[in-house]
Amino acid sequence: MPYINGQTVTLDEKAQTMVLNPADGTPVAKVSMSGPAQMTQAIDAAQAASAAWGNTPPAAREIILIRAADILEAKRQELVDVLIDEAGSTFGKAQFEVSFTVGMLRASAGEARRIFGQTMPSDMPGLISLAIRRPLGVVAGIAPFNFPLILSTKKVCMALAAGNTFILKPSEETSLLGLKIAEVFHEAGLPPGVLNVVPGDGPSLGEVLIKDPRVKLIWFTGSSAVGRELAIQCAANRKKITLEMGGKSPLVILKDADLDYAVNTASFGMFIHQGQICMAGSRIIVEEPIYDAFVTKLVAKVKTLQVGNPRDPHTVIGPLIRASQCGFIDTRIKSSVAAGARLMCGGTYEGNFFQPTVIADVIPGMDVFRDELFGPVASIIKAADADHALKLANDTQYGLSSAVLTNDLQLALKFAMELEAGMVHINSSTIHDEQHIPFGGVKNSGLGREGGQWSMEELTEVKWITIQMGQAHYPF
Ligand code: NAD
Repeated sequence: MPYINGQTVTLDEKAQTMVLNPADGTPVAKVSMSGPAQMTQAIDAAQAASAAWGNTPPAAREIILIRAADILEAKRQELVDVLIDEAGSTFGKAQFEVSFTVGMLRASAGEARRIFGQTMPSDMPGLISLAIRRPLGVVAGIAPFNFPLILSTKKVCMALAAGNTFILKPSEETSLLGLKIAEVFHEAGLPPGVLNVVPGDGPSLGEVLIKDPRVKLIWFTGSSAVGRELAIQCAANRKKITLEMGGKSPLVILKDADLDYAVNTASFGMFIHQGQICMAGSRIIVEEPIYDAFVTKLVAKVKTLQVGNPRDPHTVIGPLIRASQCGFIDTRIKSSVAAGARLMCGGTYEGNFFQPTVIADVIPGMDVFRDELFGPVASIIKAADADHALKLANDTQYGLSSAVLTNDLQLALKFAMELEAGMVHINSSTIHDEQHIPFGGVKNSGLGREGGQWSMEELTEVKWITIQMGQAHYPF
């Protein structure tokens, strides 16, 4: 049921759908999918609450965000259960997601006090010139399924800290988690209308948000195809949009790297949450002298990853969110093998479970080199030397995360400067996020940044204010 204006709204039977556990198809809970009418009600409520919330002192916003962190922490077990049953998270990933979200809420509380402006000198005698930041007003967030608690809460807490009211449209596949976020903020004492959560179909609800001039920003995280479509619609409606989209991130392993560390880095960076992560290091580019040894060791490690029941704390590979994703991945693997790639392990699936897969001798042009698969498939590419590795790394439409393993300082710096990515990690995996860093991508991976002060910049409008001391002199 949608959460609008501080209340759970009851919809009729027709709006209800059953959430099924991606691991075994068992029913989890019923959820009501909203339509355009509920989305308009949510915009009405967010608009009505906007002025009061925008003028709420930082101390009051801080208290609610800290309280929300404590409440979320207290609901850990409940949230872990939903993350496993609705989103197909493994036990370890679900625990991590709750912990990270608690930290994020705490960090966001401090942001409410750090919305800094500037003063500027003026050529006009006696003119005091200020740039201040004001909340945008009503902000809407559209979130994906893979890290539903982190990625939705990240938008909610930063928007609230900046003094905006918010409408969250969670993924259709993780509506229950979206509603849990509403529950947390409700219990934290957030005034009605400041946060509204409206689960339902993306295109029809998205259209209402984009066409309504009261919504000042669409904050999107999801696939590049949907992001591009939203950007076009937003341009037609003069609406601001920030985009956090897909990736095909390179992990470059140069010849001086420690082989065992490289294998562990590649394995973690590719197989966490069964590869359903935007930053996954899905193109592993290895310099020729260590290529064969690396392939052998990675395959040996991947064969040990436990697949199955996500509640078992030893499981690494749980279910994919939907069975159709397995078919999509399968066609990409088959076409790449037909084009000359070597399938080293995995490559099969049953239900929503895709076996962890390693493909070697991948070259540009193959489907597994080009497409974001969003599943547990590591593609290994041989590079003749470091320059070739850099060229291969940049040979993609995406530019989210990237990483290079080397102890050669000069080469590490060259990669840091020349990798076409929003984020570069030296000597660790492509997967990193923290509450206060500039998270985001270039090329087809993103527009804008999320996190700490960078979120605050996206979420506020700069206003120029002048104050004349004495009287200004006019020419007539
Ligand atoms: P998706 O693009 O299918 O859906 C994301 C959200 O968009 C959902 O809430 C969906 O309902 C909504 N949506 C779909 N069509 C819409 C439309 N026409 N108008 C408005 N909303 C619409 O993505 P997904 O399958 O949920 O998530 C996986 C994708 O998200 C991957 O590509 C992944 O790389 C990306 N992702 C990116 C980041 C990042 O920070 N860059 C983080 C997580 C996931």
